[in-house]
Amino acid sequence: QWIFLNDRFVKKEEAVVSVYDHGFLYGDGVFEGIRMYSGNVFRLDDHIKRLYESAHSITLKIPYDQEELKQLIIETLRKNKFQDAYIRVVISRGVGDLGLSPFTCKHPGVIIIAEPLALFPKELYESGIEVVSVASRRNRSDVLDPKVKSLNYLNNILVKIEASLAGASEALMMNDQGYVAEGSGDNIFIVKDNVIKTPPGYVGTLEGITRNVIIELAKQLGFEIREDVFTRHDVYIADEVFLTGTAAEVIAVVKVDGRNIADGKPGPVTNKLLEAFRNVVTVDGTK
Ligand code: PLP
Repeated sequence: QWIFLNDRFVKKEEAVVSVYDHGFLYGDGVFEGIRMYSGNVFRLDDHIKRLYESAHSITLKIPYDQEELKQLIIETLRKNKFQDAYIRVVISRGVGDLGLSPFTCKHPGVIIIAEPLALFPKELYESGIEVVSVASRRNRSDVLDPKVKSLNYLNNILVKIEASLAGASEALMMNDQGYVAEGSGDNIFIVKDNVIKTPPGYVGTLEGITRNVIIELAKQLGFEIREDVFTRHDVYIADEVFLTGTAAEVIAVVKVDGRNIADGKPGPVTNKLLEAFRNVVTVDGTK
């Protein structure tokens, strides 16, 4: 397996970074997770845009222009002869002194890893998953704006730990006002009386690319869809609940905090959107 590291391709075993890299020391950097389906990189331009916007927001200059980075991603996939893969692009502040200051880091680190991946086993897409709400809160835009997809994922990791200690596959994160924000690495949707809702960005939600695709598909299919705030109670009494994300794709949630969602089975709207999503991923993207 070949990995792009800084300015060249290296073997997986040789892909190592310095202990002085501020990405490692402080989580100072940004990243993207992207999928390739049947030789088609899904929404590559959207991911590239979000990566450059995240980097700009934290004054991190990516040492390639957008087109060059796109080509490097495609080259990584070609070199590994992948048709279906998960791609991780990491831009770190780079190697510097031990101090927090990013100004000692002269060369940002660029890493592109591609590997085969499916987050949840196939059966779970048919049966749905169980999630639990957690005590850790999603910070809102007044702290570090969740729109910045930074390497600081400790909050999300703690949430994941809370969920697995409670025996659930995923966590439901609220913000400090008790509004539902998202999962540890995926967005949430609820369906009630044929209206689909997903939290707006200001609640502390990352505006996921899969989320935005689902909003488009739902509109195309004639569903009423809104960005709106909701609480845990709204989730408990929803007709359907599902999560979306690059890794998770579209997955039904059938139990939340021990309460069944409706009859405890994936619902028709979720199934329809999953089908539409599966159709679009193989045709709509960068070859
Ligand atoms: N929320 C968080 C915190 C994430 O890390 C991700 C993954 O990127 C998502 C949501 C889903 O976003 P996307 O659909 O762009 O993968």
